[in-house]
Amino acid sequence: MDARDRLRQYLEQRKEMGEQDLVLDGLSVEDLMKIVGAPVMPGAMQPMAARPPAKVSRPEPPPIERPAPPPIERPAPPSAAAAKVVVPSGPIDVGGSVSEGARAASHLVTLDAVANAIAACKACSLWTTATKSVPGHGNPQAKFVCVGEAPGATEDATGLPFVGRAGDLLTKILEAVQFKREDVFICNVLKHRPPGNRNPEPAEIAACSPFLMQQLALLKPHVILALGTFAAQTLLQTKEPIGRLRGQIHRFHGVPLVVTYHPAALLRNPNWKRPTWEDVQLARRVFDSASGA
Ligand code: SF4
Repeated sequence: MDARDRLRQYLEQRKEMGEQDLVLDGLSVEDLMKIVGAPVMPGAMQPMAARPPAKVSRPEPPPIERPAPPPIERPAPPSAAAAKVVVPSGPIDVGGSVSEGARAASHLVTLDAVANAIAACKACSLWTTATKSVPGHGNPQAKFVCVGEAPGATEDATGLPFVGRAGDLLTKILEAVQFKREDVFICNVLKHRPPGNRNPEPAEIAACSPFLMQQLALLKPHVILALGTFAAQTLLQTKEPIGRLRGQIHRFHGVPLVVTYHPAALLRNPNWKRPTWEDVQLARRVFDSASGA
């Protein structure tokens, strides 16, 4: 992996965590100077703040170290064992007043009816570039619901959520806490794939959220597991980065909600396996408690 690839991977990891301010602390001075086209001074170790155009938002970046950037550990989230219920979440606001889409979705009384409405939906432009709608899949009686961001290429081709490598990893994560895929329901915030897997636009989330809200209203889950930044921020109506949201029990309309990393992000950053393991264990314990197990 060359320096550009490492820088790109590093920035994607920070973006995945909702970071806006970046300190380029995982590459060598030489690597970064090559990237920005600056001459390399042998032995010189200078703060990156003096090296345009690399964006450094803090006046005194920490010393640059090899080999790999450590995962950002926010002020330590409470351990799963010590986690407590926090952040009561109010009703989700998908655009101020109740939208036409929300009103229409609220009349859909089965998951199949929701899926049919999604297949016919033209409330945003994503249906024009998608191959198939991906409404969600799983047990209609499920009380454990996983919510991700949006379909990717494989999901778009198959119409099923979380297939391919990220899907396989999600299956293993669930199995590690004694959930089979057929026991749970899995869906995304967006039901059509954004072109090129770009980030969802706020207007798309607002247009599509009524379908997710209705799915959750019909399922009445005991626990929701939000996978990744967009699912967590959409359901909790917050801009907090995922590093601050995970490791706790939130509430979504009274339903316990646990946040963890998206399996696709986990594939890029194996350092997040341990916190993800803690999160899903927490979700399992909350589920058992809520289900009277
Ligand atoms: S992404 Fe959601 S709102 Fe947009 S067309 Fe598809 S179902 Fe409708």
